[in-house]
Amino acid sequence: MNQEEFFKKITSHAKEYGFVFPSSDIYDGLSAVYDYGQNGVELKNNIRQYWWKAMVQMHENIVGVDAAIFMHPTVWKASGHVDAFNDPMIDNKDSKKRYRADVLVEDHIAKIEDKINKEVEKAKKRFGDAFDKEQFVSTNPRVVGYKQEIETISHCLYVAMENNDLADIKQLIEDLGIVCPISGSRNWTDVRQFNLMFATQMGSLAEGANEIYLRPETAQGIFVNYLNIQKTGRMKVPFGIAQTGKAFRNEIVARQFIFRMREFEQMEMQFFVRPGTELEWFKHWKEERLRWHLSLGIPAEKYRYHDHEKLAHYANAATDIEFEFPFGFKELEGIHSRTDFDLSSHSKFSGKKLQYFDPETNESYIPYVIETSIGLDRMFLAMLSHAYTEEKLEDGSERVVMKFPAALAPYKVAILPLVKKDGLPEKAREIMDQLTPDFMCQYEEKDSIGKRYRRQDAIGTPLCVTIDNQTLEDNTVTVRDRDTMEQIRVNADELYNIIRNKIAPKKI
Ligand code: ATP
Repeated sequence: MNQEEFFKKITSHAKEYGFVFPSSDIYDGLSAVYDYGQNGVELKNNIRQYWWKAMVQMHENIVGVDAAIFMHPTVWKASGHVDAFNDPMIDNKDSKKRYRADVLVEDHIAKIEDKINKEVEKAKKRFGDAFDKEQFVSTNPRVVGYKQEIETISHCLYVAMENNDLADIKQLIEDLGIVCPISGSRNWTDVRQFNLMFATQMGSLAEGANEIYLRPETAQGIFVNYLNIQKTGRMKVPFGIAQTGKAFRNEIVARQFIFRMREFEQMEMQFFVRPGTELEWFKHWKEERLRWHLSLGIPAEKYRYHDHEKLAHYANAATDIEFEFPFGFKELEGIHSRTDFDLSSHSKFSGKKLQYFDPETNESYIPYVIETSIGLDRMFLAMLSHAYTEEKLEDGSERVVMKFPAALAPYKVAILPLVKKDGLPEKAREIMDQLTPDFMCQYEEKDSIGKRYRRQDAIGTPLCVTIDNQTLEDNTVTVRDRDTMEQIRVNADELYNIIRNKIAPKKI
């Protein structure tokens, strides 16, 4: 199955099993906006909780905030979003399709990277065990040529973007001979800037309406509350403020399902540190955040860092944690050392002193900030694509099983009376009543046990508990494991501990 087919299967599975629906589905959807169904909302809540627990509950020096989506319009002046939160767009005159100009160039670079990967694969086959990848990519003339080509294109794009030189970006697209993937033509419009913020009016027109924005990131709600929280929480630097919530971006090209949405959710933490210590903390959070991902038991090969060589003017270090999505490695989370840019700017625009008096050094300063920012929906997509597995069973049948990390699975356990009579449903309900206060349980008595197992596999329930006649005699049940399909017989009183152990995070 190629990657495109695999991705299609995931998106249709997500709809068929109540994970993700197009928004306003009965009206044929709304572009790049999605709703989460009965299983999706559980998975999403679990991811959010898993993050919150790791960031807030397990760090004495990190606290939460829940800031409003609407903020004072000057916030977005101070943050630079009004002037610079733009993407360059370009249209193809033949297909009438709109693209992000920088993404067209990046896709072109990705094609060259594919060529490098193909050369590496070929050489691997040729040299067998003796193959040294490092040496090959640094000496093979064809690969070296491709790498130089990528370097040159990236540099041109970076300079044009930095200088906001839209004519140069168009020139680059023309020089590279990039064609529209739909029409195949090079008939491009000029490149124009497009601000990604959604604007709306506050107050009725009669009252004199004011234009405000739907927040394009949750971070600013943290910065504007820095002083409130530092003072009322008596927080001492270094400390962090965490927030999860909706953000809105009018993305020019929204595609790849929930990877790039116009309304999405972020989980962000801003960590305030003493100036001069920020690079140590950057390293700390870079490692800590990867550990969080690995604690879910997902293979390390699925993740990689992408350190930014070219930095935004206010950052002095930045990296992405990339995940191998069905369409390749892409950004899942960003970790940025943002210096004192945000607090200084808010201080300037608001006229309020956003400083910290450090009792250890007897100095006042504006703290530096390390940001960790992960898209909840992207994490959801990462989990969907990691989990989706098609398996052929020994009896020749097939199953689709969602191998979610147990801690994130929508339902932890399914309670299944073997038959719908002989007092088994009553006993099953009794067992379920003991578990529902602590775990999401699903009760099912319809269809054969095999069919019920398949349905639970399809939504990723880690454990199925079957109640049969023996249960009535000695209170034992069978517990079936989703991944191994092994069954064990245990006393129903042990279920609580078995489920607890199953969903405990891995220690990394
Ligand atoms: P990209 O380069 O993919 O547009 P970004 O660098 O603009 O992302 P940030 O502003 O750093 O992203 O936002 C932090 C995180 O928020 C990203 O790592 C991503 O997981 C998530 N995110 C950003 N934009 C979107 C979107 N349109 N839809 C879903 N998630 C998003």
